[in-house]
Amino acid sequence: MYHLGKMATDDIILPSAQAGQSPMPVKERAPYSIPRNNPGPGVYRSRLPNGKFTNLMQVMFTDFCKMDCHFCPNSHWVPRKRYGFKVDELAKTFNDLLERQTVQGLFLSSGVAGTGSKTTERMVKVVDLIRNKYKFDGYVHLKVMPGTERDIVEAAHLLGTRLSVNLETTTVEHMDKLSKMKHYQRDIMDPMAWIDELKRGPTNGAIGQATQLVVGAADETDLDILNRMSQLYADWELKRVYFSPFRPVRYTPLEEHPATPMQRTNRLYQLDWLKRVYKFSDNEIKLGFDKGGFLPLELDPKQTIALENLDAFPVDINTANRDQLMRTPGLGPVSVERILNNRRRAKITRWQELTVMGVVQKWAWPFITFPGHRPEPAKQLRLDSLLSQERKTRSDGGIEHLTRNRAEVKRETRASILADPGEPFGTQTTLTPTPCGIRSNCDGCALYNTPGHPGSSKGLVRYTPSRSFEKVASPSP
Ligand code: SF4
Repeated sequence: MYHLGKMATDDIILPSAQAGQSPMPVKERAPYSIPRNNPGPGVYRSRLPNGKFTNLMQVMFTDFCKMDCHFCPNSHWVPRKRYGFKVDELAKTFNDLLERQTVQGLFLSSGVAGTGSKTTERMVKVVDLIRNKYKFDGYVHLKVMPGTERDIVEAAHLLGTRLSVNLETTTVEHMDKLSKMKHYQRDIMDPMAWIDELKRGPTNGAIGQATQLVVGAADETDLDILNRMSQLYADWELKRVYFSPFRPVRYTPLEEHPATPMQRTNRLYQLDWLKRVYKFSDNEIKLGFDKGGFLPLELDPKQTIALENLDAFPVDINTANRDQLMRTPGLGPVSVERILNNRRRAKITRWQELTVMGVVQKWAWPFITFPGHRPEPAKQLRLDSLLSQERKTRSDGGIEHLTRNRAEVKRETRASILADPGEPFGTQTTLTPTPCGIRSNCDGCALYNTPGHPGSSKGLVRYTPSRSFEKVASPSP
């Protein structure tokens, strides 16, 4: 292994040197010389729970690893030069960045050099120097290496703010596909259980635990991931579960395995959000899965679940309770709070009011009602039709649908709608006009059938497939 030495200073502290400019001497650089919203190499811009951002020095203690994880560029399969810091070198580099106000915290990870315990012990020494020599009492996210023994986990707990052990996959069987060296229970689950125990104990120390999964490497389903996430949140109150899409790495046993589309991890983050923030139950979330246990790539899970629950919509924006509003596409926690506050003063009667409150009209339109707006059933049916198309494409393609890129799926779905323009929304022929809300039915009304009026057969005009597809397929907010 090669130590980084001066190279670490050049690479991390002086990004201008990389750009071919002569680096300014350290003492002369002004604070904020690296813009906060455009951090330099090794600096990760992280979002805080209150919506603000902070810059973390994100670094690996070493990229040498003796383990055999089939998906990892640091695993022993990959023949390349490896580097590592010395303990005091890394602590000093962090302190330099801190003094320049380039970073406000540390995210420290590593490969497994020697044993898990030895590597974690060295990382704990780095944090010890930062805390006790450089007097930093801010945020430190410390990775605990697989196979770390309990006394080292205890030392890490005393010094870190957040600890995490990378889970990588969902079950023992899936782990067997990814590594012959890692023992799922002994090396990963046990240290996670100890962290939880310490977190609940009397000693002041790390206040949170997180983990990370590599999505798609072991061919696990989204349902497997949901089940594991539920156990982690329920039993160990994890702060976050992070996902990274699998990318094949040359020389590893999975180099021929197809990459996981980024869209799949986006959908899993949305699912995580539904669970943690919107408080959806697991049974509700499971409505969004197809028979194979996957989430549609083309639709936001919240929208998919709403389409499975069409009986519950449209909700009246002026009378619906918080739970109903939170389950409505296009509405988020902030907009729901604003709606609840505003409607106490006066009824909501216009789209402009909702837009100002943060409601996304294009998603909420078919699912909400208020005086002056009743959604046309055709719009919901159109969304439903797209969902069936997505599911058909998926069941035809089996697991392979996850490896095709989004544009390809979109093109195929669109082509299948265009190929049969007469029938995709054929259910519309059975619809009756929707009353406008002023009268309970349209019989004998002078406004019936006038252009643009809700109680009109014009509202049931069939939409051209391309237009409806574009509308539904736009990314969710
Ligand atoms: S233990 Fe971590 S760093 Fe080492 S090969 Fe596995 S995933 Fe990569």
